[in-house]
Amino acid sequence: MKSRMPRALPVIDPQRCTGCGRCISACPPHVLWLEVQGPHDWGPKCSTLHDEAHCTGCAKCAVVCPFDAIEMVRQPA
Ligand code: SF4
Ligand code: SF4
Repeated sequence: MKSRMPRALPVIDPQRCTGCGRCISACPPHVLWLEVQGPHDWGPKCSTLHDEAHCTGCAKCAVVCPFDAIEMVRQPA
């Protein structure tokens, strides 16, 4: 039987994220991208998790962020 590890997902604080893109390069399954926040399709971009199902919870994005904008939040099992 396959055991399910407790998993955490990155939560990105748009107030701290500068859109530097380091987390996007560091993410092995490429589930992060830069997205404009808010109702317009212009303006500053912020890192966004677009494919939760394929995030492994490895936390590489959080470790690499120089602005401490990513917090790993444990998901209920
Ligand atoms: S590394 Fe941090 S500041 Fe840079 S895009 Fe990712 S979350 Fe934003
Ligand atoms: S926790 Fe790992 S897999 Fe998930 S977004 Fe961050 S770097 Fe990518």
